[in-house]
Amino acid sequence: MNKESSIEAGRCQCGDNTYTLDKNKVISAHHCHCKDCQRTTGSGKATILFIAKKYVDLNGELKFFESKGSSGSHVRRGFCPNCGSGILSYSKEISRILYVKAGTLDDSSWITIDSNFFTKSANNWNKPDESIKCFDGNPSIMSGLKSILKSFT
Ligand SMILES: [Zn+2]
Ligand SMILES: [Zn+2]
Repeated sequence: MNKESSIEAGRCQCGDNTYTLDKNKVISAHHCHCKDCQRTTGSGKATILFIAKKYVDLNGELKFFESKGSSGSHVRRGFCPNCGSGILSYSKEISRILYVKAGTLDDSSWITIDSNFFTKSANNWNKPDESIKCFDGNPSIMSGLKSILKSFT
């Protein structure tokens, strides 16, 4: 029996929306420096975890704002309608993968960041970590995800 639980909990600021996820099922973790992430976070970047939807258990009701990403896909950003905290987002075209906002986890100390997205729009005051892989814009792994998904059924 595994004594260490792989289930991690997170929530919005007011607590109306809570969730748990299985950290062993996280595909990868990224900093996204795109302008949309900067606007929604009000910060230099968003830090997101890629994970299949079935490993995330959300309790509550998020409101979604949809915008068009640079690649033409439709990104839906979910936030708590009461306190405005962004919890997760996903691309409408690949809706089985969620991008969970790492900062909403109660404990995010276990996360290792794999790469940076949209380094071309990173700010001088929040420079990308160049010790990890950097993508100028939208990484090609987004299209690669569709094939990854076939192993997640
Ligand atoms: Zn809330
Ligand atoms: Zn972004």
